[in-house]
This record gives sequence, structure tokens and C-alpha cells, in this order.
Amino acid sequence: MNESVEERIERLQAEGIIDMHFDLPMDLYEKRDRKNVLEAEFLPEFKAGDIGALGVAIYIEDRYMPQNGLRVALDQFARLYAETAASERFRICKAYREIQEARETGKIAFLITMEGVEPLGTDLNQLRVFYELGVRSIGLTHARTNAAGHGGIFAADGSPPEGLTQFGREVVRECEALGVIIDLAHINPAGFEEILSTTTKPPIVSHTNVRRFYDIERNISDEQIKMIGERRGVIGVNSILVSPREEESTLDHYVDHIEHIAKLIGIDSVGIGFDFFEFIYRQWPESRQKELAAKFTTPHFIPDLTNHSHASNLTRRLIERAFSDTDIEKILRGNWLRIFKELL
Ligand SMILES: [Zn+2]
Repeated sequence: MNESVEERIERLQAEGIIDMHFDLPMDLYEKRDRKNVLEAEFLPEFKAGDIGALGVAIYIEDRYMPQNGLRVALDQFARLYAETAASERFRICKAYREIQEARETGKIAFLITMEGVEPLGTDLNQLRVFYELGVRSIGLTHARTNAAGHGGIFAADGSPPEGLTQFGREVVRECEALGVIIDLAHINPAGFEEILSTTTKPPIVSHTNVRRFYDIERNISDEQIKMIGERRGVIGVNSILVSPREEESTLDHYVDHIEHIAKLIGIDSVGIGFDFFEFIYRQWPESRQKELAAKFTTPHFIPDLTNHSHASNLTRRLIERAFSDTDIEKILRGNWLRIFKELL
């Protein structure tokens, strides 16, 4: 076969790339006085990167907490639904079959996820409401503590030693009963273990990095990686925390994270959770960027992996790093599809 590298990339991406973490609803909400944001600002990059499905996260920033968490969450849904309805190119999907239909008809599938259960307050009944609105994957916390548990912090240790609260345990039980995927991204180490010991289905970590390369609680240790592997879960590799050092925040080092996870638990447990954030970060005034650095860390964006139009740079680098076609297709979409098929 006389296939060029470009042709090989095109073939490998033809069925679409799946990215399990994108802060789209938050940005649509901030731009709520504009119309057609999805088609005008996002679609060109999605198309350029052959994006087939995205986990789009409802996330409430500190400045809206505690009073406006629920309202802002509902407004994020409102904008996501309105923008999706205004375009032929997207579909909000609530089941595996719908994701398949979207892909077969050339639409980009959105799977609505929740990063932190703050919108629920302490009311388990609200979980049912958000399920009906389409939420199909939930991470209990972001970095901050909430009614469900504690987030892993952006330091090697120091989060509370406790696991979930009673409410957190109830949310986990109800998610399993309803058919909502439990996402272990961000939860502190004690919460991570507790969730695994009280659930039976394959767990996911939608967007994280390997602690061996960036040693903060927010990332995932080799022990934790093995626990996900034993349960046939999938870990999505994050693009913004690959190294504490800017000069090491490279596409090659991103691939090192993929390789490390695959070496520990096999290629069937690694996927993509890019967490592209540069487009939001660059809209912020310097004061907010400084606030982020003080609260968490300064994100180091990978120059040639900053937004969805760059996805083929990853495919090319996987080829250069001698990944097989079968393995590349598993990383780009196959492993996430296995999870969707099994759980949704
Ligand atoms: Zn996150």
C-alpha cells in the first residue's frame, strides 16, 4: 500500500475523534448575548480536527457560588440546547445509540457531563432533573470541597484525608442506578478509593495526567492507574497539565503520558480528555489569570495541541512514535465508545 502519512491520518480520523472533556457550556454561557457562537467560533476547529464526539462539562466557577450555582448551571443547559438546535451539525446525545446515529449522519455528538455537583446543592432529587436534561457523566468535585466530597489539590498532598460525604455516597449510588457514568477526575485520593470500592461498573477519569510526570493530587498515581485498569475503565489524557515546566509541555510529552498509562494497564484503557482551555484563558484579564495561578497553577498550553484543530498533530505524532493503526483508533475513539456502549 502506497499511503502517505497525510492519507493515513485522514483514514485514522475519518470516523471522528472523541474528547471527553471540554468546557463548552461555560463559554456559551459567558457569550449568552451572542447568537451562533457554536457554529461561528467552534465548528471550524471541530471540523479541522475531525472531532466526532465531545464530553461537554457543566462547571460552575467560584464567582457564582454559592447563591447562583443552580441558576448558572440551568443557563448553561439553555445556551447549549439553543445553540445545538440552531445548527444542523450537532446533536445532544443521551444514549450510545444516539451517539452512533449522530456519527453516521455526520453530526458532532455532545455528551453532557458535570464537573462538580454544586448545582445539586444537597438535594438528591435534582440529580433526576439533570439526568432528564441529558447529563450522562458526573465527577463529584472540581478542586474545591463541596457537599459530596473533596477535590484533589494542585500540590503533592494536603487535601482532607476523608473520602465522600453521606450525600456524595448517595449521589454515586443514584448515578449507578440511573445509568450515569462516574468520572473520577479531580476527586481526592480517599474519595477515589471509596468510589471504586462501592461501585461495580467500569470507571472513567475523563481528563487527567500522570503524577509521575507532574506530582499533584489532581493528577493520577500509578497505583490509581492500575485500579482503573483492573476495572476495565478508561483514562483520558489532559493537555494542560503534562508538566510543571513550560519547556516540557510538549506534544511528545503528551504522548509520554499515553505511553505510560498503556504500559501500566494496556492500550484499551487510554483515551483523550484534552481539556482545551486556552480559548477561555486568553479572554481573561491578567488579574483573573493571576488568580488562577494562585489558586491552582499556571496552565502550560502545548503550542501544537492548544485547540481542536490541532488534533491531527497528535495523530501524526502517534504514527511517528510507532503506534499501530489499531492502537491509534482505540486512543482516538474506540476505548470511549466501548465505555459508552457498555454504560449508556
Ligand atoms: Zn477539570
